[in-house]
Amino acid sequence: MKNNYFVDENGFYGHFGGAYIPEILYKCVHDLQEAYLPIIESEDFKQEYRALLRDYVGRPSPLYFAKRMSERYGCQLYLKREDLNHTGAHKINNTIGQILMARKMGKTRIIAETGAGQHGVATATVCALMDMECEIFMGKTDVERQHTNVERMRMLGAKVHPVTTGNMTLSDACSEAIRDWCCHPRETFYIVGSTMGPHPYPDIVARMQSVISEEIKQQLLEKTGRDYPDCLVACIGGGSNAAGTIYHYIDDERVKIVLAEAAGHGIDTDYTAATMHCGTEGILHGARTLVMQTDDGQIKEAFTISAGLDYPGIGPMHANMAEKGRTKVLAITDDEAIMAGYELTRMEGIIPAIESAHAIAALKYLKPAPDDVVVLTVSGRGDKDVETYLNNKEKAGDYGKF
Ligand SMILES: *Cc1c(COP(=O)(O)O)cnc(C)c1O
Repeated sequence: MKNNYFVDENGFYGHFGGAYIPEILYKCVHDLQEAYLPIIESEDFKQEYRALLRDYVGRPSPLYFAKRMSERYGCQLYLKREDLNHTGAHKINNTIGQILMARKMGKTRIIAETGAGQHGVATATVCALMDMECEIFMGKTDVERQHTNVERMRMLGAKVHPVTTGNMTLSDACSEAIRDWCCHPRETFYIVGSTMGPHPYPDIVARMQSVISEEIKQQLLEKTGRDYPDCLVACIGGGSNAAGTIYHYIDDERVKIVLAEAAGHGIDTDYTAATMHCGTEGILHGARTLVMQTDDGQIKEAFTISAGLDYPGIGPMHANMAEKGRTKVLAITDDEAIMAGYELTRMEGIIPAIESAHAIAALKYLKPAPDDVVVLTVSGRGDKDVETYLNNKEKAGDYGKF
């Protein structure tokens, strides 16, 4: 039997996914389940979405042949440059789509969660563009470690709520956003930032990000004469840039898929965010998925240097693909990511987001043949992480001596 890696009619990916939500949200989640495909498939939506991606975000994002890194890793390495998008990451592809959807559904108030702040900035940006009220939930720890993004959100007109429950990071911000949604279900649209949450969010976000692999196909054909790579590499927090990178290749078994999750201090320590290595089945933020939890089901705190990957769950689509062996998942430590971030900076002149640096660090585990085409998504730019890189420069060997 052929594996199906896409969502089924009940909102599941294998036995992962679904919509486990409080009763008060049944109506708005059900309305969204009914509305999302007709909206996405309407000519109206397609035209407006495509025009904004082109003229406002700056798509297509370049597919760049990284010559020096190719030589170092012994393959033909192409970088998909999501770092060059307006607002600095892939998140804007999704927020543009979701705000158009919110408007079509007559919603007037937008809420969102954010970790590193990239999704918060992308949401605040489209709210300014569409003149919508915007409230962002962000863990207090992240408000402090990603504070330039907080200033950007405020400047864009969003109200930022620092969340002080739990370890005050992304997972707590999600919980708080869901609580707010429960209090104002009628007028509020929750713009979820990754392939997580109750059905249909993982499918909505994957479709919005699928423009990444749609472009890779065309760009690879132009550059190499073949529209598929031998291997795709992406970092994975909740799974949205990874979902976009692989979407049009999921059923193409010629294409190997390697995903890099954040190991923090290491998967054999308590300081990790490597959910697919360390998680067990459970329910988190509305979906059945792999979750880092104690034996009695308490959610464990995630830990990584990268605020955007600091999440104790994983999108259900990815839990299913990893279980079925379609993807290979590597756990990359903080130190490996720092080193890889410096390496890309010095070898190609590209400072990647610390999240994206996890994908770069995966290259040394690939063992490719010399003519293998590898496409790696640089999910975001590293402007927000300069302080983190500088504070850890002793871990970057010769690159850190300046
Ligand atoms: C948010 C973010 C991620 C992680 O989220 P995914 O949904 O897994 O893509 C990765 N990189 C950057 C730059 C981000 O902003």
